[in-house]
Amino acid sequence: MNPEPDAPIPAPQGKQGLRLRCGYGTDRGLRRETNEDSFIAADPVFAVADGMGGHEAGEVASGICVRTLAGIPQLAGGGRDATAGVVQQYLYAADEGIREATGSLAGTTLSGVVVVEQLGVAYWLVLNIGDSRTYRLSHGTLSQVSVDHSEVQELVDAGQITRAQAAVHPRRHVVTRALGSGDETEADFWLLPIEDGDRMLVCSDGLNGELDDDRIARILTSEADPQQAVDELIQAALRSGGRDNVTAIVVDAGLDAGPAAG
Ligand code: MN
Repeated sequence: MNPEPDAPIPAPQGKQGLRLRCGYGTDRGLRRETNEDSFIAADPVFAVADGMGGHEAGEVASGICVRTLAGIPQLAGGGRDATAGVVQQYLYAADEGIREATGSLAGTTLSGVVVVEQLGVAYWLVLNIGDSRTYRLSHGTLSQVSVDHSEVQELVDAGQITRAQAAVHPRRHVVTRALGSGDETEADFWLLPIEDGDRMLVCSDGLNGELDDDRIARILTSEADPQQAVDELIQAALRSGGRDNVTAIVVDAGLDAGPAAG
């Protein structure tokens, strides 16, 4: 069937003119013997896993986690066909793999974004389990998308402490959900339409434990290049103490407008 002569040209299905640029980095920090963080930054998956366990078991746990994400067939070769349900199935597999490999002595957090497309529209599929974080810088405003699974977040939710008090609370490192340990292995998911100019930050708590949100926002808004933004964030975290492993990924999205009307 031919369209009417003056009918609008339908938007092309699939690629929406999405351009991604990213920077990434990780540092052992100044106090830890090993770096138990792992990350993946390969379109369409940008994620950080913070392993816990000691004796290198944490590295094993976070490594299994990111390799599992890398192996999702719907995402192979830049595919955009994953859904939250698909990703969660692989996270269950990662959870089992970590328990087998470490004798349930280690666990890992996971936070990040998977770029997906549905009906030709591109989305950030944000995922989180534990207390690594995913932030979005949109029109100059930084907001934390993921919600920590931590004891102090529960106290904040209950109105017992403020976010500022949580940041210095002695139990701020206690995670209430993780892969590979504990009873809860469900991730939280958010599906956000990608907007032109979006900048996503994914990081381990070694970053946001050293830098408050205002400091992070100032660096993200003052460094246009994603790799320079990452380098500056990590250096700032080290200068303010570097008490933990620190990992950061910055992903910038550009979205071309549809074909000009005419
Ligand atoms: Mn950490």
